[in-house]
This record gives sequence, C-alpha cells and structure tokens, in this order.
Amino acid sequence: MGNILKKAAAGLMDKMLSTATVISVRAWEPSTLSEIVIHTPTIAMEKWDSIKRFKCKVGEWDYRDYTPAKWDAETRQCTLYIETGHAGAGSHWARQLRAGDEIRLGPAHAASLPGKPGKILCLGDSSALGHFLSLRQLTNARQYPMEGLRAEARFLPVIPGVSAATPLSGMDHFILG
Ligand SMILES: Cc1cc2nc3c(=O)[nH]c(=O)nc-3n(C[C@H](O)[C@H](O)[C@H](O)COP(=O)(O)OP(=O)(O)OC[C@H]3O[C@@H](n4cnc5c(N)ncnc54)[C@H](O)[C@@H]3O)c2cc1C
Repeated sequence: MGNILKKAAAGLMDKMLSTATVISVRAWEPSTLSEIVIHTPTIAMEKWDSIKRFKCKVGEWDYRDYTPAKWDAETRQCTLYIETGHAGAGSHWARQLRAGDEIRLGPAHAASLPGKPGKILCLGDSSALGHFLSLRQLTNARQYPMEGLRAEARFLPVIPGVSAATPLSGMDHFILG
C-alpha cells in the first residue's frame, strides 16, 4: 500500500519537473562537496527574488531539495553545491553525476530574504553553502555584509560555544543552514 502511494505521488511529482543537463562536476575540499553546473533551458530565473530550491529526482521514487547557489539568467546555467558524504539517495545520486547527464528537477520557493538591510551571520555545514551563496547573489553586499562560519551539522546544537569567537551581538540577521 505504501509503495502504491509513493508511486502515485512520484507520478504527480514527475509531471511538475523538467529536464536539465549536467555541464560539469567538480570535487571541492573536502572531496565530499560536489560543485555541479547545470543547464536548465526551460527555467526562467530573471525574476527570482527569494532563495529557491530545486526538487530533484534522485531515484525512481525519491526526491531531494538542492539550492541553486549561483545562476546566470541569460545562459540559464546554475551551480549546485551538494554534500555527498553520507549514505542516502541524494548523496548517491550526486556522486554518480557526470557531464552530459540529463536530470529531472523543478524550482520552488525555499526562503525569503531578510526584511531589512543589516549584517548577516551564516552558520552551517557544507550542505548549506548553496543557501548562503544564493543569499549573496540576491542581496547587495554593502547593505547586507555577510559573515560565514562552517560547522559540522552535529556541532550546531552547541552554538553557544561558537559565540566566544564570533561577534553574534553585532549581527542583524542570524541564518542557520
Ligand atoms: C530547502 C532545502 C535546500 C537544500 N539544499 C541543499 C544543497 O544545496 N546542498 C546539499 O548538499 N543539501 C541540500 N539540502 C539537503 C538535501 O535535500 C538532502 O536532505 C541531503 O542531500 C541528504 O539527502 P540524502 O538522500 O543523501 O540523505 P538522507 O537519506 O536524507 O539521509 C541519510 C543519512 O545521512 C544523514 N545526513 C543527511 N544530511 C546530512 C548532513 N548534511 N550532515 C550529516 N549527516 C547528514 C541523515 O541523518 C541520515 O542518517 C537541502 C534541503 C532543503 C530542505
């Protein structure tokens, strides 16, 4: 029964997705961070005014969200940063992507921009890099200066330990990735 429902939901989801082509795949340091540039011919990015996510088909019935970190509305290319260092369908899918592969995805809203200008502190692991870079592209660096701090997800619950080294009190916005 569960599988029938999953299959029906996947069928509906597939209808909302379009095809994109992988242009390049590059491993960053740590090597579990993949930079994936894709061409999305049917997705118009000109009017993006909030942080987006791409719902990506990563398996027969599996979908994961990945953030367009940088994009060029003219060429319709955009870059994803995917953390692939754990055992899951999304990580497995991202690890085996190669230039020339066709993938299925659809854009959706992920997060709004801060309501007013001010300093932004971004705290997150590699999987949040796309979110922060997207915010960078969508905001004016002088009005929204950003500080970034990379942390492993398992350490994030101990944020008070971070405050000694980071001027949290000087920040207007605090974003946890
Ligand atoms: C709006 C949105 C945007 C996102 N954008 C990105 C993005 O740009 N790049 C990106 O890499 N991910 C992003 N993610 C996370 C992504 O959608 C997947 O959840 C992630 O890739 C894990 O999927 P998986 O199938 O590999 O692992 P799962 O099957 O979900 O989990 C497998 C195992 O890995 C563990 N795990 C999952 N993620 C992490 C992690 N970050 N650190 C440590 N352990 C983990 C789980 O706890 C579980 O034990 C985003 C999520 C959302 C909701």
